[in-house]
Amino acid sequence: MNTKIVILDEDNIEQNIVNEAGLVIREGGLVVFPTETVYGLGANALDSIAVGKIFKAKGRPQDNPLIVHVSDFNIDHLVKEVPRIAKKIMNMYWPGPITLIFNKSNIIPSVTCAGLDTVGIRMPSNIIARKLIEAAGTPIAAPSANISGRPSPTDVESCIEDLSGKIDYILGGDKSEVGLESTIVDCTCTPICILRPGAITVEMLREIDDKVYIDKSIMSKPNKDFKPKAPGMKYRHYAPKAPVKIICGDLTKTIAKINEIVQTSIGNKKIGIMATDETKDKYPYGTVISLGSRKKLDSVGRNLFEVLRSFDAIDVDLILSEAFEEMGIGVAIMNRLKKSAGFDIIYV
Ligand code: AMP
Ligand code: MG
Repeated sequence: MNTKIVILDEDNIEQNIVNEAGLVIREGGLVVFPTETVYGLGANALDSIAVGKIFKAKGRPQDNPLIVHVSDFNIDHLVKEVPRIAKKIMNMYWPGPITLIFNKSNIIPSVTCAGLDTVGIRMPSNIIARKLIEAAGTPIAAPSANISGRPSPTDVESCIEDLSGKIDYILGGDKSEVGLESTIVDCTCTPICILRPGAITVEMLREIDDKVYIDKSIMSKPNKDFKPKAPGMKYRHYAPKAPVKIICGDLTKTIAKINEIVQTSIGNKKIGIMATDETKDKYPYGTVISLGSRKKLDSVGRNLFEVLRSFDAIDVDLILSEAFEEMGIGVAIMNRLKKSAGFDIIYV
């Protein structure tokens, strides 16, 4: 398939291009578009045939539901009801990096929600994303625009690498501002529950509802009988080609442990080290890439998937990563890192 690729200037968006991509969605095609979390692969959320093409293009398991992206606060036609707590979250954080789970209405086809009775809805803050939804005139179902299992794409080049030739249109913009997928909050239960941590943190949500909690299966390895509330939770995710190992604990001990592993493998393995600005000069061997400063965890989040992908590009055999404190956005960073490592963690 011939994929049209157009990269827009977010400060000077060409409306005719957005309209063209919107028409592709309306006519049942697939369009990659930027969002502030990660890039999305979109189709008309109300068209089951179009949505089916997303699963095929990504190689995504059929039981992993998609998030429905809207550009309007009126979502009454998409859901059975909007609970009061959800309205509060929407007023505070939409448009923005948070998805809310509702009981779905009948106009949303089963395939969009992978057969569940619920639907995840989000209004992105990225201006190209919102203009595209408006131009399409329909809500857009979109997972991340990567081949299933790979690190999510935070720039248009990564989307081109994964999906060019498999879809109709790639609409590019800037690098994703957040770089981690949206926080997902289940609003069908009381108290509400976080199914995926993201840039809107549990601490921020506790300002709205002090009982909100993080589903306990998120941060630890699921056992084999695990029945996830969000189907995406059970899959190995965000994984580069090389295995990832996390070294977790006191930073001085972490550095020593990483150097010890690198030294014992020298000569037979090419090792990548995910370091930080504060530590990157402490590793004499291995290919060292910094995720950013430990003092700016937001930028660590923004860079994480890009750094994982860059280790793929240089073909390392093993990636060793430092860990981060599980507080604020650190919860989301560690959640993605642990999943990319398949929960392979050495505690020091
Ligand atoms: P992705 O966009 O690739 O990050 O995937 C979307 C994620 O949202 C998946 O991991 C799903 O498990 C989750 N999700 C979407 N809809 C629902 C829903 N109705 N209930 C629970 N989780 C959902
Ligand atoms: Mg994804």
